[in-house]
Formats: sequence, C-alpha cells, structure tokens
Amino acid sequence: MTIACPFPRTALAALALTALPLAAFQDQKVTYDDTPQLPGQPYKVHGERPWPQVVTPGDSTAPPSDAIKLFDGTNLDEWQTGGKPAAWDLTEDFMRVNGTGTLQSKREFGDLQLHLEFSCPTPVKGHSQGRGNSGIFFMGRYELQILDCFENKTYPDGQTTALYGQWPPLVNACLPPGEWSSLDVVFEAPEFEGKDLKTPARITVLHNGVVVHHAKEFLGATSHRSVARYAAHGGKGPLRLQDHGNPVRFRNIWVRDLAGYDQASR
Ligand code: MG
Repeated sequence: MTIACPFPRTALAALALTALPLAAFQDQKVTYDDTPQLPGQPYKVHGERPWPQVVTPGDSTAPPSDAIKLFDGTNLDEWQTGGKPAAWDLTEDFMRVNGTGTLQSKREFGDLQLHLEFSCPTPVKGHSQGRGNSGIFFMGRYELQILDCFENKTYPDGQTTALYGQWPPLVNACLPPGEWSSLDVVFEAPEFEGKDLKTPARITVLHNGVVVHHAKEFLGATSHRSVARYAAHGGKGPLRLQDHGNPVRFRNIWVRDLAGYDQASR
C-alpha cells in the first residue's frame, strides 16, 4: 500500500540536510486555517485543537504515567470493607480473598480504563460457581465475573469475564489455576435523565490479551436468577472486588479516568 506523503520529497531532503535541532520545529505552525469544518465538532479538518496529554506507557509490570494505582503490592490503603480498613491477606506482591468481606475502593469513578491481574486458587476445590469465584463490580453494581473456568463448566453467562447473568464472553481465554491472568477493561458509565435510562453502561474487555467483549451493553445492575434492571444513580461509583469465599489472589491494579477528547495537556 502506498501512503501519500503531505510534503514534497525535496522539502524532506532539505530538512534532513539542515539537521536543525528538533526543538526548532516545535514552534512552527502545523495546523490549517483554510480547511472545512468537522461535522459535529468545533474544529476544522487538521485545525487547531487541544494537543492530547503526553503519557509515558507502562511495560508489562508498570502502569502508565497517569494511572491511579489502586494496588501495587505494598498496602490496602485504597480499599475498605463496610467502611472499615480492608483486611484481605497481603503477602509478597499480591492480596488474597480471606472471607473478611468484599473490598470497595475509596475513590469513585465514571468512565475508566482498568488493569488488574488475578490468579485462581490451587489446589482446585469445588466446581461450577464454587471454584475461584470473585468479580469486579463497576460503580458497585455491574459485575465482570471472575471464576476459574479452566476445564470447569458452569452456566455460560456466569463464566469467567461474563457480564454476570447477562452475556457470556466471546471466548474462554482462561489460563490454568495458579497462573496469573490479566484483565484490561474500558468501562463506560450509564447515563440517566431523571429516573430514566438514557445510555446503558458499556464495557470492552481483553482477557489475557484476547477480546472477550467489545463495547457490550449491560442490561442493568447485576442480579442472580433474575433479569437485570437499571436504577438511576450518580455519575461516579466505587469499584468492588467480590469476596465469594474462594481465596482468589489479585495484584497490579490500576485505573485511568477517561476524561474525553480534546482535553488540554496537563
Ligand atoms: Mg462473582
């Protein structure tokens, strides 16, 4: 495929020869004034608009530079249980469910990007919903199921990364219990007009790098043995990590607030 170059080759060659320091070009005008208006946007094609914030990406173990670290292996300070300090086991670089109750983040979020790693218990105990059960509740209401579904059958809309009771994942990307799995999530908060739903919550999920949901809509707040329904709530809510009585481990949890397009560099 040929990609059209917006600059004449002679101009590019001249730039290369003069070898000006890169910073010298930073003050040059690079936007257009004589282009059409973009439909639905207050900007012109190629026109002046806020430059996105510069973010240093993380690597396989480190979060990006603008992430909020909710758990880095050192303490449980970002979490509480029923208004009291979180009391899950904290060992090495992970925390582990121990029957003291579901964790709730002290911070609240709306639209967000989440990274989280979990490991289901070994030796294996139980079956179906009794094996490595936990879950992430966005805004305290909408559960992305965590379960050990490596060679463990359960109802499809309750398996690992299901929107519990609503949608099974596109595929089962589980690793064996005891291994660390990753979840990378984009969650979009629902919007309400008064008591009425305007826009449902949506979620995109990569499980161990595999897309298992793509902008999938939640039917409502998670429920068991009944059809989920929405009840109007505010624009932000906490994350909850479920204590379902199985010693699931968690590590490396971070969140990025998604503020939207055309936010000026900070
Ligand atoms: Mg669960």
